[in-house]
Amino acid sequence: MSLAWQDYTEAQFQEVMDFAQEYMDFLSKGKTERRFLKLAIEKAEAAGYRNIEEIIKNKETLHPQDKVYMNQMNKSIALMHIGNEPLEQGMNILGAHIDSPRLDLKQHPLYEEGDLAFFDTHYYGGVKKYQWVTIPLAIYGVVVLKSGKVIDIEIGDKEDDPVFVISDLLIHLASKQMEKKATTVITGESLNVTVGSIPLKGEKTQAVKANILALLKDKYGFEEEDFISAELEVVPAGKARSCGLDSSLILGYGHDDKVCAYTSLQAMLEAKDLERTAVCLLVDKEEVGSQGATGMQSKFFENFVAEVLYAMGEGQDIQCKRAMLHSAMLSSDVCAAHDPNYADVSSPNDNMPKFGYGLAFNKYTGARGKSGCNDANAEYIAQLRAVMDQENVHWQTGELGKVDAGGGGTIAYILANYGMRVIDCGVPLHNMHAPHEIASKADVYEAYKGYKAFIKNMK
Ligand code: MN
Ligand code: MN
Repeated sequence: MSLAWQDYTEAQFQEVMDFAQEYMDFLSKGKTERRFLKLAIEKAEAAGYRNIEEIIKNKETLHPQDKVYMNQMNKSIALMHIGNEPLEQGMNILGAHIDSPRLDLKQHPLYEEGDLAFFDTHYYGGVKKYQWVTIPLAIYGVVVLKSGKVIDIEIGDKEDDPVFVISDLLIHLASKQMEKKATTVITGESLNVTVGSIPLKGEKTQAVKANILALLKDKYGFEEEDFISAELEVVPAGKARSCGLDSSLILGYGHDDKVCAYTSLQAMLEAKDLERTAVCLLVDKEEVGSQGATGMQSKFFENFVAEVLYAMGEGQDIQCKRAMLHSAMLSSDVCAAHDPNYADVSSPNDNMPKFGYGLAFNKYTGARGKSGCNDANAEYIAQLRAVMDQENVHWQTGELGKVDAGGGGTIAYILANYGMRVIDCGVPLHNMHAPHEIASKADVYEAYKGYKAFIKNMK
């Protein structure tokens, strides 16, 4: 295990930087699960992937080297590149999640107080609430009308767009606030986004709110009650940026887990002439426990495999079970990188991932006594060591910080329920779940290389 930067030739260094730039552009445009999925489908279709719905509808037959995908409610996607081997011999699966911590608008979001209009929010995922005040914010999502018409909303990231903000108390009047615990200094109910201050001319009461409603009707074509069937997400405004004098890092919103999702997707789309079938799973709802129709606990992936088998003329239940059982998976999610500013929570003795050492494998996650973890088999890890070393991937191992300091989980255990081989791995970050997270460009590139190696060489 060595610092990847030390090993790059000039050409490789340039490749790392170019790859990072493409990732940053994608991340800046794909901040929510819906946006990420839309961009992923565009890329996949350009690479020859077809929607399984079309195959089913036309009663088409699928063959080795065909590429198909299933879109689950515009929030999760499974892509499959069928290999020459029978599917029941298993798949090489890359999995990551595309939802990130954020603030969702409530169903009755708009209100007026003190001649100002606000959006009331409910935070999604684990956030330090005090980090979300005073920073420029954007709003993305959909408003669905009773007619079924979907209105796409994206405000705050175009040059001329306004941004949004949540106010904080000025330091001059904050003597009481400053004594509070960090968990209560900003509460969930005080995360109210300022959206306007101009009254509607001639209106006597709630005139600022009335003006915002008029604007929404005029500019976006929806009414107040349409908020009820909307999904609007408040995220940090602005692009992902190179960070540091040497530009070696990336500061951006949503690395967790779009950095693993993007690198997995790129590796998947570049695969050619596969012996073993490859799959890329990009799923929603990991940050809130993976439940629901679009979370990993949903059966949509298993159903997709069954549909592919059926379209290949092999639709027996046992074949689907075998395909799942014989698979190998990289359950990719970001992990904590050693941060010298907070060294006291790092796992000692080379058991903490570090920036620049490449793709990080976590044999297990969980909390306290590995509670809730997926613990990968030693036999599987030995196979992975061989696969990674064969392609000169920089990789490391690590824990999610010091034992007893905290913990966390991923989607790994859900796929492991099928009896397949699964391990957690991913790109190390500083300040995970903050509005802007930090990743190393070298690790982003090595993750991509590692995923390519896995698709090509895992047996
Ligand atoms: Mn994650
Ligand atoms: Mn997370």
